[in-house]
Amino acid sequence: MTETTRDFIRQIIHDDLLSGKHEQIVTRFPPEPNGYLHVGHVMSICLNFGVGQETNGKTFLRFDDTNPGKEREEYVRAIERDVHWLGFDWGDRLTHASDYFDRLYESAEKLIENGVAYVDDLSADEIRAHRGTLTEPGTNSPYRERSVDENMNMFRRMRAGEFADGTHLLRAKIDMASPNMNLRDPALYRIRHIDHQRTGDKWCIYPMYDFAHTLSDAFEGTTHSLCTLEFEDHRPLYEWFLDQLQPENRPRQIEFSRLNLAYTITSKRQLNNLIEKSVVTGWDDPRMPTIAGMRRRGYSAAALREFVKRGGVTKKDKLIEMGVLENCVREQLGDSAERRMAVLRPLKVVLTNYPEGQVEMMAGHNHPNRPELGTREVPFSRELWIEQDDFLEEAPRKFFRLKPGGEVRLRSGYIIRCDDVIKNDAGEVVELHCSYDPDTRSGTGSSDRKVKGTIHWVSAAHSVPAKVRLYDRLFTIPDPTTADDVMDVLNPESLQTVQAMLEPSLKNLADGEAVQFERLGYFCTDSEEHTSEAPVFNRIVTLRDSWAKLERQAMQQS
Ligand code: ATP
Ligand code: MG
Repeated sequence: MTETTRDFIRQIIHDDLLSGKHEQIVTRFPPEPNGYLHVGHVMSICLNFGVGQETNGKTFLRFDDTNPGKEREEYVRAIERDVHWLGFDWGDRLTHASDYFDRLYESAEKLIENGVAYVDDLSADEIRAHRGTLTEPGTNSPYRERSVDENMNMFRRMRAGEFADGTHLLRAKIDMASPNMNLRDPALYRIRHIDHQRTGDKWCIYPMYDFAHTLSDAFEGTTHSLCTLEFEDHRPLYEWFLDQLQPENRPRQIEFSRLNLAYTITSKRQLNNLIEKSVVTGWDDPRMPTIAGMRRRGYSAAALREFVKRGGVTKKDKLIEMGVLENCVREQLGDSAERRMAVLRPLKVVLTNYPEGQVEMMAGHNHPNRPELGTREVPFSRELWIEQDDFLEEAPRKFFRLKPGGEVRLRSGYIIRCDDVIKNDAGEVVELHCSYDPDTRSGTGSSDRKVKGTIHWVSAAHSVPAKVRLYDRLFTIPDPTTADDVMDVLNPESLQTVQAMLEPSLKNLADGEAVQFERLGYFCTDSEEHTSEAPVFNRIVTLRDSWAKLERQAMQQS
């Protein structure tokens, strides 16, 4: 850790190492396996595992599986895969809150023995009515003064399965008048007659999050328990558990602000809602801000790590522009991605003076700044595809692409002139008749004639048809959570699919390899649907940020 990159959490940790308070740092990333991980989790993963790496410490991947019924094995597998893919390794430190169910139970009995926990027989509604409000204190439950023996007996009967769900609750005995609602006798254990994915039917009572989480931290030797700001109000409870139970290891909770990304949502519940309403095709839909979605979209792990690094670790709530993430993705790809040509919305060009049946192999440079990446052969012939919007019939003077009577250079090819515009009965342009200047072949041309515009193209006879998906923001406003219903602010154009024509070398593109389609953006094959017979490509990101200005304005207003 260098001085300049040390955020406030790393500073605390640095100081704790210097002062000798800790010899080794232990952190943990504690996801609940009730959905796939999203970009917000990327921040928490990079922080927890990053601190572990930087200090030669240890980081646990701990599944917070205290909510049987909502948690699934599919999510567990996905989370493990995503953390690995991001570049982190938990070694033999993969744990579950459920690994500690026995010890948690013992700790609960200890609280009862100490007279600071009791079994409450009130119903959920009654408990709510007793809780009070932010401005009014709560009132004590009539069961609050049960004897230690009675509490112990009741709690053991809860565990033995004698009571139905919701009839009893083990609660901490703290202070029903506390201004902090979390201290108004919070629940520790509830009855749930439901099998757990790991412990089966062994338990019919399950610990509540705060209790399980604090003690799991303590059991694992966590030195710094890093969590998001909404847990700040839970810290006194965290401390209370540690004070009461005095575990050997006393972790310190430190809160940081959530990473929020503009034009999307970062809540597993809300993301699941998008899947259930068929707005997206699944957790790995390339428009999803999930790690699985971003990976399928073609974002690299390095780009995501760089993104959270730029976002920093702070205590201030912030909404980060999507452009920051996309810039990280672009920067990674700019250096690594080779260039190829593809036409997304094809318009036929016939070179009337080019010999029928002739094919020339042009040398396409694979990277403008990296000559060591060499060239590839790009076939050129009499009939070509160009981009529909690279031609304008009524073009303004400053339009330097193709127009009637105008000239343009074909990248790695020749200069051509548009002689005739062919239209269908509806008056739409369906074909251009052009002539090429044989003296202007790129690289070898004898003429040094210059024209202002250069466009990309693909030889029609050699082209590979492909489905190409163009992705955009999922929502139309920076913070969709401010809408009454996120469904009202969906971007109807978040996915456009076009039938494109690709240069033939793209047939051999390796899975997972990203390329730049010249002038159009960065693309890769779709990991789920692409086959060499029926190619499917995803646009990873455009070349420039067309949203930047709009986004800044919208965010200033919001
Ligand atoms: P969600 O609301 O999406 O379910 P969560 O916080 O309930 O999120 P967990 O699985 O409990 O999800 O989170 C695991 C860890 O990731 C927690 O330590 C949590 O603080 C952290 N985390 C979750 N969302 C963000 C975020 N947007 N920014 C930073 N850290 C986050
Ligand atoms: Mg949670």
